[in-house]
Amino acid sequence: TLLLALDFGGTKLAAAIAHAGSREWVGYERALSPTNANAKTDLEIMRSLIYSLLEKAKPSAIGVSFGGPVDATTGKVRLSHHVPGWENLPLRDLLAEEFGVPVSVDNDANVAALGEHRFGAGQGYNSLFYITISTGVGGGWILNGKPWRGAEGMAGEIGHMVVDPNGPVCLCGKRGCVERLASGPYMAQDAREELEQQGNRGEVLRGLVGSNLDLITGKVVSEAAAAGDDLAVELLYRSARSLGVGIGNIANLMNPQRFVLGGSVTKAGKGWWDVVKKKARETALPEVNFEIVSAALGDDAPLWGAVALASELVL
Ligand code: ADP
Ligand code: ZN
Repeated sequence: TLLLALDFGGTKLAAAIAHAGSREWVGYERALSPTNANAKTDLEIMRSLIYSLLEKAKPSAIGVSFGGPVDATTGKVRLSHHVPGWENLPLRDLLAEEFGVPVSVDNDANVAALGEHRFGAGQGYNSLFYITISTGVGGGWILNGKPWRGAEGMAGEIGHMVVDPNGPVCLCGKRGCVERLASGPYMAQDAREELEQQGNRGEVLRGLVGSNLDLITGKVVSEAAAAGDDLAVELLYRSARSLGVGIGNIANLMNPQRFVLGGSVTKAGKGWWDVVKKKARETALPEVNFEIVSAALGDDAPLWGAVALASELVL
């Protein structure tokens, strides 16, 4: 049985085909989403990726990872935070009609959780919470061995869990959300603002970017922290502590066996990981046990998750 996996990311589009049960791609196509992309142009690009794959193989189902909120029961996209024009688009039905096979669509964090459960760091675990810490922070549940999406598909929104009610304002309007404190772009923004104050903190960071503060990214903050920069260490550890508090609270509330962490910020190094684990342990009750581990599927996580999603339609 061949399965087609699609990944609509914020900046890139990918499509791949695999045999159910295999861990190798039969075909793989990817393209960048143009900077002025809208839903129509992204769909056009994806269609061309799909048609070039179809020359090699004929899939029996399609699984889709979408980078934004989705109603998985209807397969309708609610919206994309990065690309305009996706509002209420019936993505599942569009694809099912054009390609004549069953289609399942879900948001990228839920899909990644499913992928890690089926193929990655969550194999054999009946309950896990997957968290991606990257441009944003998102999460997805596996409970009783199956995705748990919540009444409206909105379960797992750890990114906007408030961990510091007096903290800085998040894009969602609230203060002190995990995403506001832990994500890469916000770490970079806070570093820039601090350097603009012309204080004497952040010497190493300033040395790395010179006068062009726009060059500061989450990655640069973590490099400066590794070199001992005081400001960068503070921001990186604040990221880790905030995420750790969120994880500890979720452990108390839901008691999953595992937390699986993916996304680029998890590449920040051992110091970051140690603080996440320590803070989560401090926040959870002593009787609540859990493990925090790194995601195993890497950049192809959404595609492998989409394979798992597609396989549920035919197996
Ligand atoms: P995405 O994962 O959303 O496609 P990137 O991987 O380029 O995008 O980066 C997402 C965020 O993670 C950016 O803010 C980036 O600076 C940050 N990031 C990347 N690598 C690291 C790292 N080693 N440590 C901390 N943050 C990082
Ligand atoms: Zn928020």
